[in-house]
Amino acid sequence: MHHRIPKQSGAAFAVDRGATFSVATPEGRQVADLVAFVRGNPAEPFSQAYTRDLNGRLRITTGDALYTTAGEPLLTIVADDCGVHDILFGPCTEWMLTDRAHGRGVQNEPGGCRENLALALDAIGVDRPVPDTMNVFQESTVTGQTYFDVRESPAEPGDAVTFEASRGAVVAVAACSAKGVASGPSLGPIDLQLPDGTAVHGASIHEEGAAER
Ligand SMILES: [Zn+2]
Repeated sequence: MHHRIPKQSGAAFAVDRGATFSVATPEGRQVADLVAFVRGNPAEPFSQAYTRDLNGRLRITTGDALYTTAGEPLLTIVADDCGVHDILFGPCTEWMLTDRAHGRGVQNEPGGCRENLALALDAIGVDRPVPDTMNVFQESTVTGQTYFDVRESPAEPGDAVTFEASRGAVVAVAACSAKGVASGPSLGPIDLQLPDGTAVHGASIHEEGAAER
């Protein structure tokens, strides 16, 4: 089944072990922030740091796994049209979009992916802090072995990444709210392809409360 996450929104859903789902950028360039938790044990979330460590890579693509804080594979990338995804940066968040310019410009908007992911996770019953994200379709580059920065996303319209659940998982995805280098000056939606019958809990900090759709 198809589910569209509107721009500047998030959605959460559960997947069974062995099930697959995909995250697509229908208009291209738009980045999607993704987190996941072990289903039934939200105290064991996706770990961006251990995912870098256990893959021995600063980027992950087909064949690579997203690992948990316990070092166990949770999701595995089984297909990838884009091949460029960030596991260095955290999700955009309130202070980043309102208070801190740092040369990125200030949007003066209430919250970002961290807030949208938190709302979506709350709607599906996961009351845990939002871990650092896999930023799907975001290009980050390390230079001089010291500095890292964000580049324009190379994702083409319709590019998708397909994940297989290595264990039962609760997943949350946000259509990134940060205007700028990665997603560009105008923000767009993110499309999910999910197993038929999946219940999707959508939420946006831009709407009143955590409305379910
Ligand atoms: Zn974001």
